[in-house]
Amino acid sequence: MTESAKTIARTERIGLLCMVSGPTASGKTTVCRKARDHDDCVYSISCTTRAPREGEVDGVDYHFLDKDDFIQRTAQGDFLEWATVHGNYYGTLKSEVVAHLEAGRDVVMDIDIQGAQLIRATEDPFIRNALVDVFILPPSMDEIKNRLFGRGTETDDQMRLRLYNALDEMKHWREYRYAIVSDTPEADFDRFRTILNGERMRACRMRTPAGLVGNIPTDLPQELI
Ligand code: 5GP
Repeated sequence: MTESAKTIARTERIGLLCMVSGPTASGKTTVCRKARDHDDCVYSISCTTRAPREGEVDGVDYHFLDKDDFIQRTAQGDFLEWATVHGNYYGTLKSEVVAHLEAGRDVVMDIDIQGAQLIRATEDPFIRNALVDVFILPPSMDEIKNRLFGRGTETDDQMRLRLYNALDEMKHWREYRYAIVSDTPEADFDRFRTILNGERMRACRMRTPAGLVGNIPTDLPQELI
């Protein structure tokens, strides 16, 4: 896409709010990062009270907060949604989302099933209209286990909790409009991008039909009257 085509597209429609959920190690974070790095999406940086993993950067991967700060921000009404996941708080800041959508930028967010349920239940018509939801399923429980062990970022107890929670999370896949069974990171992203590109053409989010020069015609050309 050329730079000017991107600019036109942004003024022609509101952005997508694309929620990506799935159990631990399903590949959802990789899909979201690829959408940020190789597509035109903004990645919504969540707040969390969990400790940073090795290599994670504050303000890039997450806003890492302590519990008191997190609770204060909930009281201030800073979050679009928040939830307790695997024993820690996670939340989406309104400031990471709303202005981008208004400016026609697509936002992808890595979010658990509770957060997705809360956002789906919103009565705000602007947010409802922007919503797209995708569930990423691992090909098997063994594959999650292998990926978690391979990652080596969690203790045995944390891994057990994540695997146990995965069983519950996977029951919710049908609440989502789209489902992807994870394959390679490239194949997952390819399918994800197909979804994004389809959703970018939904008339309900367009200000004017994409590519139309001027307004929708309401009168016949003069010579035909
Ligand atoms: P992790 O600790 O592996 O980065 O994330 C754990 C879980 O928290 C994942 O299921 C992820 O989707 C979820 N999560 C990440 N950010 C948010 C958020 O802002 N809100 C909610 N509700 N869940 C989140």
